[in-house]
Amino acid sequence: MKHVIALDVGGTGMKAALLAQDGSVLFEARRPTGREHGTDAVVAAILDFAADLADEGRTRFGLAPAAAGVAVPGTIDERNGIAVFSANLGWRDLPLRKLLGERLAAPGGPAMPVALGHDVRSGGLAEGRLGAGRGVDRFLFIALGTGIAGAIGIDGRIEAGAHGYGGEIGHVVVRPGGPQCGCGARGCLETLASASAVSRAWAEASGDPDADAASCAAAVDAGDDRARAVWQNAVDALADGIVLAQSLLDPSTVIVGGGLAEAGDTLFTPLRAAVTERLTFQMPPKVVPAMLKDTAASLGAGLLAWDLLSMEVTA
Ligand SMILES: [Zn+2]
Repeated sequence: MKHVIALDVGGTGMKAALLAQDGSVLFEARRPTGREHGTDAVVAAILDFAADLADEGRTRFGLAPAAAGVAVPGTIDERNGIAVFSANLGWRDLPLRKLLGERLAAPGGPAMPVALGHDVRSGGLAEGRLGAGRGVDRFLFIALGTGIAGAIGIDGRIEAGAHGYGGEIGHVVVRPGGPQCGCGARGCLETLASASAVSRAWAEASGDPDADAASCAAAVDAGDDRARAVWQNAVDALADGIVLAQSLLDPSTVIVGGGLAEAGDTLFTPLRAAVTERLTFQMPPKVVPAMLKDTAASLGAGLLAWDLLSMEVTA
């Protein structure tokens, strides 16, 4: 069966699959990224994992994968296949597409086609085609994790912007003069509504240094007033960010994923109310949870590989 390699490289772990053309998963595997061994070791681990996946495909289906898609964090030059920078994994200007294409080439044959994608935009692509955005032609995907990142979905693809920074809703300023953000600005959405921001605020309010976003959500459900104040603060900031995006992009659906979305209705019920309350002329978006959880970026990387093959056919 014709298949592609789908690989998501995260800060601590890599998630991979062999993907059929309809997006179905034929094989899945996970490995540690091994960043404690340094950047060169991480790159070697990525290349080895991809080569092993290609062997797996040959063994199972009697033919090599037709292409590979790889999603990585940080700044990406998708057009040239270069992983420009990742604070987490330590690389700068890594020509990952070229390295993978050569490593995966048949002996004496041409380089394997490789698509390089951004992890959150790849996750958004998969949510749009296979998950919560299926059948939706305009959506915004927001991932609430350590930080906040996003992806703008238009007609089955993701709009990356002119420089690869499109969809960075985490750095929309919703509280001018607010908390200092890692990007250098103050009051960015991710300083107020990321899972880390909620964890920090709840640890401070509860006096428990080990308190986190999940324990805050549990305390909200239990009726704790301090937890409710912390939670509502994050919900209000997130609603402000979503309304700004609504005015600018007018998506029909906002898909919310990442650690904080695990809180389910504890998040979605007040969030929908806070968004609706803020709208004036804008049409209300559907605000829905992401469906694909932590495999989204890997599936999206595989979809990028299939897109690359279909472009080669039409070119
Ligand atoms: Zn920022």
